[in-house]
Amino acid sequence: MSDKFKTILLFGAPGSGKGTQGKMLGRLPGFFHVACGDVFRAIDLNSEVGKVFLQFSSKGELVPDDFTIRLWKEHIDKLVHTRRFRPDEDVLVLDGIPRNVHQAEMLGDHIEIWKLIVLRVVHNRGEVVRRLKSRALKENRLDDANDATIEHRLEVYDQESRPVLAYYPTDRRIDVDALQTPAKVAHDVLSAILGRTQEMHAIEVVAPTATAR
Ligand code: ADP
Repeated sequence: MSDKFKTILLFGAPGSGKGTQGKMLGRLPGFFHVACGDVFRAIDLNSEVGKVFLQFSSKGELVPDDFTIRLWKEHIDKLVHTRRFRPDEDVLVLDGIPRNVHQAEMLGDHIEIWKLIVLRVVHNRGEVVRRLKSRALKENRLDDANDATIEHRLEVYDQESRPVLAYYPTDRRIDVDALQTPAKVAHDVLSAILGRTQEMHAIEVVAPTATAR
């Protein structure tokens, strides 16, 4: 058996709702959610590591890859060590990482993609900006506080993050319309995850009738 973490990757632009959906999945037994942004935000912002994070995130830039992957791995190792995340029982739900192809390559040693769920906000930049601003107020997020930073974050997504989609094979990818209500998105995300099980169930139900004929 592979010693890589069985992983659901939630992928999408800032404001597409990865965090909302990730948190929802993480509440279900058998799923463990880790948002890369939360790993960073949990750091003491006065520490050296915290200052590096602020230096980049406040400008809407990505934190450097080596630094990000090292921090992410240390965080996961701690969770495994304390048995909060049990890789033998739980599927890892990742959001916010990988954010570029180099990170995807680096993560390849640690994760095995089971499902790639892409939250799509096609042609609706206005809604994305509205969501980010509303979150900035609620969560005191510096990176979403002004229009220029938001715009830059969306550009970084287009230029650096979007190419990650071409890096992974398409057979495990499911696109979901992220402009629906959170409950409908959740429905589609869960259907995407359960899809195979449902198919198998359908085969089991159909098989006896077929043989009886
Ligand atoms: P969002 O949910 O809006 O996409 P995140 O909470 O994931 O934002 O990330 C906030 C900030 O943290 C990013 O703008 C970036 O500076 C930093 N960050 C988070 N994840 C990564 C990553 N994988 N690589 C580099 N920087 C990251």
